[in-house]
Amino acid sequence: MPKSSFVEDLKVDLAPAKQCGVERVRSQMGADDRTALDAAFEKIRDKNSSYKSVQTTGGYTYKWLHDVLTKHGHVVSIRSVTKHSRKLCACDVN
Ligand SMILES: [Zn+2]
Repeated sequence: MPKSSFVEDLKVDLAPAKQCGVERVRSQMGADDRTALDAAFEKIRDKNSSYKSVQTTGGYTYKWLHDVLTKHGHVVSIRSVTKHSRKLCACDVN
């Protein structure tokens, strides 16, 4: 590794923080799957946005979505699902 100065090392352009796991599997899906996935996230967000919708969308949880993704071979952590749903993930920063 070539020697570089302290200043040069700190100025380097790093790639964005790890790509969101959800976006990684989402980008590999077909259009129909992607649309359904986005809709599922909306349902979870709705659920968490008001008390009323908690009653009507009770089954839509992070765990539920994670289970469905896993069942269909989409390997992603529940932490990624949670972060993506709360828009705290890397792909929503951009
Ligand atoms: Zn994301």
